[in-house]
Amino acid sequence: MNFLEKKIVEQGVVEKGNVLKVDRFLNHQMDIELFNEMGKEFKKRFKDVEINKIITIEASGIGIACVVAQHFNVPVVFAKKSKSINIEGEMYIAEVESFTHKCKNQVIVSKKLINPEDKILIIDDFLANGCALQGLISIVNDAGAEVAGIGIAIEKGFQNGGKIIRNLGYRLESLAIVQSMDPENGTIKFLPQPV
Ligand code: 5GP
Repeated sequence: MNFLEKKIVEQGVVEKGNVLKVDRFLNHQMDIELFNEMGKEFKKRFKDVEINKIITIEASGIGIACVVAQHFNVPVVFAKKSKSINIEGEMYIAEVESFTHKCKNQVIVSKKLINPEDKILIIDDFLANGCALQGLISIVNDAGAEVAGIGIAIEKGFQNGGKIIRNLGYRLESLAIVQSMDPENGTIKFLPQPV
């Protein structure tokens, strides 16, 4: 098991409805030393890729993205969630269905913050069905920039998102891929990681 898988086993809680709670270390309380290890690992996995900007999505992605960005020496832009938009002209907008909250949000990024020359690493905490990622990818594409890579902390491999994103040809690296999890006894199994 790698450092993140260990942490998930020790402190994650499997809930009904395919939800893994990681609020002791990832998306409520945040373990910055762990985020730092994640940053090191992403830097290692994307060492051959040119990246000049990180994009993530409000809210849980922001903390991880900021610590990861220190390993790439690049700025972070986060897509804001907003229900009503009245400044459309200056914004890239994508519709994202929330896995955890079961509602639709528009996510927005100011047009001045992404340029066609940008080579972007997308970072997020979870990958489930891939809606959040597809929203971010469409914003990057709308800006004419390049998705150079995608880094996810926890991918739920039994949901479709990973397959969809990899089939689209994107380079997706997930630090922990959950193969299965059982809410009855709390067992979590992972898919093997690259060595
Ligand atoms: P997707 O758009 O891929 O279906 O879901 C990704 C988003 O939903 C992530 O940004 C994350 O915030 C949230 N999410 C999805 N699955 C889980 C989960 O099992 N646990 C938690 N805590 N958040 C999740």
